[in-house]
Amino acid sequence: RKSPILVSACLAGIFCRYDGKTNANETILEMVRSGTAIPFCPEVHGGLPTPRPPCEIQGASVLDCHGNDCTNAFVRGAEEGLRLAHLVGCTEAILKARSPSCGSGIIYDGTFSGTRISGNGCFADLLMKNGIRVRSEETISSFPENQ
Ligand code: SF4
Repeated sequence: RKSPILVSACLAGIFCRYDGKTNANETILEMVRSGTAIPFCPEVHGGLPTPRPPCEIQGASVLDCHGNDCTNAFVRGAEEGLRLAHLVGCTEAILKARSPSCGSGIIYDGTFSGTRISGNGCFADLLMKNGIRVRSEETISSFPENQ
C-alpha cells in the first residue's frame, strides 16, 4: 500500500487559516477524499487559535504582526506534524505556499509588507530535514499522482 501524502489542512477545505478562512484546492480535496492524502495544520496543532494574528519568520523567531513571539507554538506544531508523518510512513507533503509554517522555497521576509524571500516555513523545513519531500500546491500539476 502506498504511503499517504501529508497536506496542509487549509488546502483540504478546513477553515484553519489565520483569518478563519480556507485555501480549499479541488485537487487536494480529491486526494483526501480518495484516501491518498491526510490533512494537518501545524499552527492549530501547536496550540494557536483560529482566527489568529498573521505571523512571519524573523531570523530564528516567529513573530505575529503585533510583535508577540509565537516561536514555541510553531515549533511544537511542526514536531507534531513530523510525528504524524512518521506514524503513517509519509515520504511526501504538499503544503501551502509562502506560509510561515508550510511555505517551501519562498516565504515572506518578516516585515508584513508582502515582500518575498528565499526560505522555508517551520513545518516544511522540519519535514525536509527529515527526508520528506515537500512541494507547494502551486507545483501540483507536476506532481506524479496528478498527471
Ligand atoms: Fe494552512 Fe499550514 Fe497555515 Fe495551517 S499552518 S492554515 S495548514 S498554511
